[in-house]
Order: sequence, then structure tokens, then C-alpha cells
Amino acid sequence: MLVASADTLEILSRNWARVQRDVAQACEAADRDPANVTIVGVSKYVGAELTVQLAEVGCRVLGENRPQVIWEKFEFFASQADAPQVAWHMIGHFQRNKVRRTLPMLSSLHSLDSLRLAKTVHEEASRAGIELATLVEINVSQDAAKTGLPPAQVPELLTALKDLPAIRVCGLMAMATQFAGGDDTRREFASVRKLRDELAEQFPEHSFHQLSIGMSGDFREAISEGATHVRIGSSLWEGIL
Ligand SMILES: *Cc1c(COP(=O)(O)O)cnc(C)c1O
Repeated sequence: MLVASADTLEILSRNWARVQRDVAQACEAADRDPANVTIVGVSKYVGAELTVQLAEVGCRVLGENRPQVIWEKFEFFASQADAPQVAWHMIGHFQRNKVRRTLPMLSSLHSLDSLRLAKTVHEEASRAGIELATLVEINVSQDAAKTGLPPAQVPELLTALKDLPAIRVCGLMAMATQFAGGDDTRREFASVRKLRDELAEQFPEHSFHQLSIGMSGDFREAISEGATHVRIGSSLWEGIL
């Protein structure tokens, strides 16, 4: 496991400044207000101590793709008297048997991808008296391995979600095909945005103001296609991993 030190804190401070600047520049190029784009710092590559350092340099919205790691880091943050307050976003596949324990730690779920999961999340959230901000993950990429719902199945899920009010639908999440490159990536993000616009008309009872698209390699394309959340991992950990 990588070790946190004064050096890593300094590297992270520079990386965080650079990522914020790059995102701001991409917003400017797309004629958008950077205040409308949240950087979700993806901390899955490192342990709890380095994750605290990322929060210390200013990144206060953190994304993880494994529930067990959220438990571990959540507890670590709570055990450190001076660790900053952070919001945890679940961005990976969410196993139903992990929902109960994870829910109270989450500010947002980006990866709702089935009705079965939705029912469990609704049940557990209702039990706990909470409402979870949730994005439906769409599979728009060509990669067979990618997760998310095929666009054709999304209306059925959204219809069912009308009866699961502990899930507050906020928008869509998607990952572009890896290594597709500029124009193809942009086309995929544009198709997510178009789907979002159609769904917003079709389902006025749900909100679709959030679009979680874009990672270290394609956040510029994502921002020009309307991303409100970019999930940035590797760029933040440059010089450390
Ligand atoms: C790892 C991961 C990211 C971050 O990807 P980078 O290329 O490291 O920026 C974003 N989204 C999801 C769902 C991930 O699993």
C-alpha cells in the first residue's frame, strides 16, 4: 500500500489545483459555469490515509466503486479527529447484500442498473428514513464488459421508480468506450445527453438535471456535452501511483 507523507500531500495539492484548472478551462471552452460541474475524486486506487490527504487538499466529493472500501474509509475518516467532512458517491456495481450497511454513508448513487437493485435500495432507504440521490447508469459503450442498463430498458425502470420514492432520481451516468477517442467519445456522450432530454419529457415526475459522464481521459468531451459530474481518478494520483 502506498504511504502518505508530506511529499504526497504536496503532490496532491498540485494535482488537485491542476485538475480544477483543467476542468475550469474545459468549462470555459464549452461556455459553461464551472460551478455547475462537480469533480468527484475517485479514490479507489489508494488507501484511507492518502484518501484523507486528497480531502485535505480540497477534494470533498469522493467516488468509490466498492462498498467494502467505502465502509473502511468512512470509518477511518470518522476515527481521525481532524479529517475533513466528505461526501461519498458510490460509482461501481452495488451488490444488493451490501446496500443496508452502505446506504447511511452515501450522498449519492451513480450506478443504479437494475430494478432488483432499485427495490432493495428503496426498501433499505425507507427503513432507514432516508432518500438517496440516484443516477441511472446507462450502457452506451461498445465494450462488452461495461456495466449499466441498455437505453431501451431505461423507461421500464423509470416507470417502476415512480413507486419507489426513497430513490430520488437525479439523472444519468455513463462511461464511454475505453480508448474510443475524441469524436467517438463525444458521440457517445451526446447520445446520453439526448436520451436524458427525451426521458425528461417522458417522465416529468423525475428529475434529470445531473449527468455523470467523463473521467480523467475524456472529461473535456463530457463537459462539452453537459456533464454535471466528472469522475476523476488517475489524474489526481499522478506522481503517486
Ligand atoms: C475508476 C473509475 C473512474 C475514474 O477513472 P480514471 O480514468 O482513473 O479517471 C470513473 N468512473 C468509474 C465508474 C470508475 O470505476
